[in-house]
Amino acid sequence: MPNHNIIIGGGPTATNAVETIRQFDNGDSQITLISDEPAHSRMALPYWIAGSIPRAHTLTGNDEYFQKFATVTRIGERVASIDPPNNQVTLSDGSKLDYDNLLIATGASPLDPGIPGSDLDGVQPLWTLAHTESLLNSASVNEQPRVVLVGAGFIGFIVLNAMFKRGWQLSVVERESQVLPRMLDTGAAGFVQSWLASKNVTVHTGTSVHSIREGDDGAKVVELGNGSSIEADIVILATGIQPNLDVVAGSGIETGQGILVNDQMQTNFSNIYAGGDVAQGPVLLGDQSDMHPIQPTAVDHGRVAGANMAGHEVHYPGSLLMNVVDVCGLQTASFGAWNDADADAMTIANEPGFVYRKLLWQDDQIVGAIFAGRANDLGMLTDVGMVKGILQTQTAMGEWKKFLAANPFDMRRAYIATGVAKKLVNTTLLGKPTRGRQFQFGGAKPVVPENPSHAVFVGTKEG
Ligand SMILES: Cc1cc2nc3c(=O)[nH]c(=O)nc-3n(C[C@H](O)[C@H](O)[C@H](O)COP(=O)(O)OP(=O)(O)OC[C@H]3O[C@@H](n4cnc5c(N)ncnc54)[C@H](O)[C@@H]3O)c2cc1C
Repeated sequence: MPNHNIIIGGGPTATNAVETIRQFDNGDSQITLISDEPAHSRMALPYWIAGSIPRAHTLTGNDEYFQKFATVTRIGERVASIDPPNNQVTLSDGSKLDYDNLLIATGASPLDPGIPGSDLDGVQPLWTLAHTESLLNSASVNEQPRVVLVGAGFIGFIVLNAMFKRGWQLSVVERESQVLPRMLDTGAAGFVQSWLASKNVTVHTGTSVHSIREGDDGAKVVELGNGSSIEADIVILATGIQPNLDVVAGSGIETGQGILVNDQMQTNFSNIYAGGDVAQGPVLLGDQSDMHPIQPTAVDHGRVAGANMAGHEVHYPGSLLMNVVDVCGLQTASFGAWNDADADAMTIANEPGFVYRKLLWQDDQIVGAIFAGRANDLGMLTDVGMVKGILQTQTAMGEWKKFLAANPFDMRRAYIATGVAKKLVNTTLLGKPTRGRQFQFGGAKPVVPENPSHAVFVGTKEG
């Protein structure tokens, strides 16, 4: 009998694991993917909210795709429990399946903030396909619905941006004293708040939602701890997420904040792997394992787990914390140890121009960064990518630290001179060049124009 790989989940960790297993085992195993939702990308949901794409474009696999990867799917089903000694999972309907290798890619779910009134119609989180459907239904009643976003974090602001594009009337409530408290320092957050004010998005910081009640004509009244209240048609609860650990309860699979994995994505049972939002794994900057519930980490985890499940030993160097958000036209990003109080900081802040950038250094190495700037500030946008590359390659900048202190907008010279682009081009996660995803909506292929200057710039061309 060929090995049986069972994958629980249908997000990016799961689909990348399927493709990677097939990249290395040439079809020489059985794969079963069990997911209660169809395979899709949560990252695409905001584009559906904004009206840029239909629901179908959020899907990341269909029957034809899974057949191509000889993968049996059980969509709409849940795994209820795992029995490691017997290498068996039990589904919600009581049926059992045996596995040789198991990948737990169950993701995360929104935290319930326990606010009285959060069960009212039109009050909801925004995390799943069903949540998106229900938001769009609630919004369809009104040309420009009034929406209160509870929680000014990374995901909340991604959703805020999508609703802004629709022209909805927006207010934000954040318990902490600034927006994006786990992504930006107070300086950059101040820029974001002035920007939002200029876009007629009302921000209430330093106060939490006390309760939500029915008002007149079906409207909701959001009562704040500071005594004020806001009328809304829709309330979005975005107060954080928690990993979906229920499936490992009582199994003996070790957990910390998430399922603990080593650099091969293995749990304390060597044939049970975990990855993505549910996993706590190695990080690039630091020795402590951590949770980085973002898409790039989910993709990496899925690939590393898939390769190891297929018998191709790969060790993960660790995930890099990176958050990039378009806040209603103001681009913001932070990377790595952006809030390291012990690091040397180089900061530029031009409030009227909405230019903010901060590089954090340990000796001559950049360990973190924060950016905010207008969407048409192309210099900033390319610098964001270059700083990410510098962090990923953990390149010591040597003399270029001094240069950057004197020329803070000239990242490109330092990036090229220290050979970062070349290092990146020669780095692969799996020891082989990464393949593009093998699913395109409607079979459409991305068009990548031939561009010889790219090769010169990244240093792959001789001479
Ligand atoms: C609106 C939104 C926008 C986002 N935008 C960004 C962004 O711009 N950049 C970024 O980096 N990240 C973004 N994220 C976060 C990103 O989507 C997640 O980090 C990523 O989806 C995690 O992938 P995953 O495979 O671990 O889990 P998920 O994508 O959550 O997939 C897990 C799947 O497993 C299923 N499942 C769970 N338990 C079981 C079970 N017991 N049995 C069967 N199936 C089960 C779940 O229903 C789910 O379908 C966004 C998230 C949201 C909600």
